[in-house]
Amino acid sequence: MPTISSGALKRMLHLPVNVVVSTPRVEEGPDGGTVVIVPVRPYANDMDRCARCGLRGRPYDRLGVRRWRHLDVGCARLLLEYAPRRVTCREHGVTVAMVPWARRRSAYTRDFEQQVAWLSVHAPRSAVSSLMRIDWKSVGPVCRRVADDLRAEQGAGLFDGLRSIGVDETSYKKGYRYMTVVVDHDRGRVIWMHEGHGRKVFDLFFQSLTETQRESIRVVTGDGARWIDECVFQWCPGAERILDGFHIVSWATDALDRVRTMAWREARKAGVAGKGAKDPIKGSRWALSKNASDLTEGQKAQLEYIANSNETLWEAYKLKERLRMILKQTADDAEPLLRQWIADAVLSGIDGFVELGEKIERRLFDILRTIRSGLSNARLEAVNNKIKTTIKIGYGYRNLDNLIGLVMPECGGLDLKLPGRQ
Ligand SMILES: [Zn+2]
Repeated sequence: MPTISSGALKRMLHLPVNVVVSTPRVEEGPDGGTVVIVPVRPYANDMDRCARCGLRGRPYDRLGVRRWRHLDVGCARLLLEYAPRRVTCREHGVTVAMVPWARRRSAYTRDFEQQVAWLSVHAPRSAVSSLMRIDWKSVGPVCRRVADDLRAEQGAGLFDGLRSIGVDETSYKKGYRYMTVVVDHDRGRVIWMHEGHGRKVFDLFFQSLTETQRESIRVVTGDGARWIDECVFQWCPGAERILDGFHIVSWATDALDRVRTMAWREARKAGVAGKGAKDPIKGSRWALSKNASDLTEGQKAQLEYIANSNETLWEAYKLKERLRMILKQTADDAEPLLRQWIADAVLSGIDGFVELGEKIERRLFDILRTIRSGLSNARLEAVNNKIKTTIKIGYGYRNLDNLIGLVMPECGGLDLKLPGRQ
């Protein structure tokens, strides 16, 4: 009969050092699957510690046997089993004593939770739920506990030494609820998220910073909203307020999309439109909004069709692409090009672009400052897109806190690893 030492078993299960393991036994689970039960207990020195502060408390009573889901062994579920004590902490009153293998109030071990959190940023929720054999409703809270811990361990300096930050409002739940996201441009990571948007929410961010932390901020980027101006003026008056380059391009992309919608409606009225998305104009939304260098063959063909059939839409498209290219120039080169662009946009007479020309003229100096700031637009956009993708994975988390728990490890520069890996 082969035996395994408790030390080897502990290593195999990746259990913390201060845990004692006893001989496992095998049972049949409620679904007919195999369950391995491993009785465990903390070292005597680590028993009777308050789960909230980790200090020793006075034993209060003993609870019944509890089980914590650990990482599977082979195809079997593995459960750690222990009857924890309750302790009286001087500060926190009666609490269930801390156990080294699991977080407070969790029915999963730390390793199990870490694997769930890691998977959640890499795979759709349904995959996480089937692979880990947990209800998807538990995934959100697990991610949040892991993110909170990571932030406490690694994120103490998240607000220290900030130089340039960006603020953006992003919709979640398919566009009917908003949250505010603050990113650290220099380190390319998310540092703060909160439900809602506007002045009051951005104020909360600044309120959570110390005076020294606020003073270190030199640049604040965002779209053209007035509440950003007001907050910057109040909280870090020494900082430069800069427009995000990709927001400027998105003004043009939005105007272009309205021109496309109009063109399609007119074609339909004239009876020359194709059915639904098959209509070349209606279906050209992505081709028009994409960067010219990233087009697929099919999208190139769509644009060629537009070039040959709809002069207004083609003009509008060329204006959008030209603006995007101008923003990549140096500020000295960009200025005369922008002035020419403004004149051409206004003269084009195209609905939306006339107004856009005027808007860009009004904000010309802001835009030149954006270019001069040298903040890489591609990088800002990359962080922004990463947040949006992560949010998309998180659709279905009903609770925003859980969604934040998902976005922070992925985009917040928190170092989330698979359990047991270096
Ligand atoms: Zn305590």
